[in-house]
Amino acid sequence: MSGQYSGNGKHSNLQQGNQSGHQGNQNILQTHKKLIAITCAIFLFLCCVAGCSKNTSSTHYDAPDSSSDSVQVQSSDAAVSTPAPATDPQPAQTQGTLRVHYLNVGQGDSEFIELPNGTCMLIDAGVADAGQDIVNYIKGLGYSHIDYLVATHPHADHIGGMPAVLSAFTIGEVWAPKAVHTTKTYENFLDQIAAKGLTINTASTGKRIHDASGCTIDILSPSEGAQPKDLNDYSIVEQLTFGSKTYLFTGDASSSVTIPVCKQHVDVLKVAHHGSKTGTNAALIAQLTPTYAVISCGAGNSYGHPHQEAISALASSSIYRTDQDGTITSTCDGSNITFSTEKTHSASASTIIGSAAGSAAASSGSSSSSASSAPSSATSSNTSSSADDNTIVYVTKSGKKYHMDGCASLSKSKIPMTLGEAKSKGYTPCSKCNPPA
Ligand SMILES: [Zn+2]
Ligand SMILES: [Zn+2]
Repeated sequence: MSGQYSGNGKHSNLQQGNQSGHQGNQNILQTHKKLIAITCAIFLFLCCVAGCSKNTSSTHYDAPDSSSDSVQVQSSDAAVSTPAPATDPQPAQTQGTLRVHYLNVGQGDSEFIELPNGTCMLIDAGVADAGQDIVNYIKGLGYSHIDYLVATHPHADHIGGMPAVLSAFTIGEVWAPKAVHTTKTYENFLDQIAAKGLTINTASTGKRIHDASGCTIDILSPSEGAQPKDLNDYSIVEQLTFGSKTYLFTGDASSSVTIPVCKQHVDVLKVAHHGSKTGTNAALIAQLTPTYAVISCGAGNSYGHPHQEAISALASSSIYRTDQDGTITSTCDGSNITFSTEKTHSASASTIIGSAAGSAAASSGSSSSSASSAPSSATSSNTSSSADDNTIVYVTKSGKKYHMDGCASLSKSKIPMTLGEAKSKGYTPCSKCNPPA
C-alpha cells in the first residue's frame, strides 16, 4: 500500500550523473542540474503558497511547537534561497493540505480525513441512523470513492452507519481489527464487504496504511494476536503524521491499552471512548500532552460522556466537543493547525451532521435512491434561528456565494459551515441551487 504513492521520487534522477568523464557533457549536466533544482524550488514555493492560502476559516492558531524534531519541513523562504543539493537524500516533503472532519454523529464516532495527496479515509461511521448523513457530508465535499475505510472495532456506535457508506461509495481498502463479534450489525457489515468483493486488511501494530506527500498513517494498536476481554480494546489506534504535526485516533481504547503505545506528544487527540474515564486519565495525557482534544459524543447521552475525570485530565488542552460544537474541522499544512466548527460554543447541539436527526430514518433501509443530499433545516425545532444553526451550506475558498450540497458551482475543496455562519461572513445565496436565505 505504501508503495502506491511515492511523491518523493522526483530527485532521484538528479543523482544519476554521467560518470564517464566527458568534460563538455559535465558542464551541460551542471547547468541542467541547476535549472532542475531552481524549477523544483519554485514548484515547492508555489505548493507552500497554495497550501497556506486554504486556511481561511481558522479560529485557533497553533502555538510554536518545541517537539517537532524529526521531520524537516522546508519553508517557502528556504526553498527559494537555498535549493537543496540534488545529491542529498531528501526527507519527506509536505505537499497539499490535510483536513480532518470530526463528524457530529450524536453518540458515536466518525472522522473523515481528506489526505494531502487527494485520497481520503473514513474512520468509523456512527450508529445506523447516522449513515446517510455521513454519506451526504462526504459527497458534499466532492468524493465518490473512499480510499481507506477503517472500522476501529465492531460496536454499533462505530460501524452502524457502514452499510450506508458501503452502498454509496466505491471503496479502496478496508481495515479492521481481528475481532469476533456476532451481532446483526457486525454481520451486516461483514456481509456487505463480502458482497462488494472487498477483503479486510487486518490491523495490527506497526502496519502503515498510508504514506504520501509527507503524510503517514501508522497503526499503534492492537498488537497482532491480542485478545482483550473488552471489545473496545480491539480499537484500531492510529497516528497520522503530516510534516511536524501529529493526529491520534483512538477509537474506544482504554488508557491501559494506549499508555504503553502512545508515549509521545500529539497535536490533536481524538479522545478515546467519547470522553469516558476508561479512555482518558492523567497518566495518558501526561504522555500525549495534546494541544487540542476532540470529543465525539451525543448531547445528553445516557452514559454521562464526557466524564468529568477526562475533562479534568485535559485541562491543559483546547477541547472541542461534537455535542457542543457540531462537526469540527481541523486543517493542517504540515506546520500549522487551525480549527473551524459548525456551531458556536454556546449553542446546545442535538442534531446530527448537516440535518435533523429525523432525516436519518431514511437510512435504515439500505437503498440510497432517496439520497437527495440537500441538508434540510431542522425538523426537531422550528425557529428560524435554529435553521441558521442546523443548516449546513458550503462555500469555496474564493467564491462569495454559499451553496447547497451538490450544487454544480461547488469545487471539490468546498468548505462546510452553518447557514448562520455563512450569512454572518457576508456570503450570499447561490442563484443556481437556491439555498435558504
Ligand atoms: Zn466501543
Ligand atoms: Zn463507542
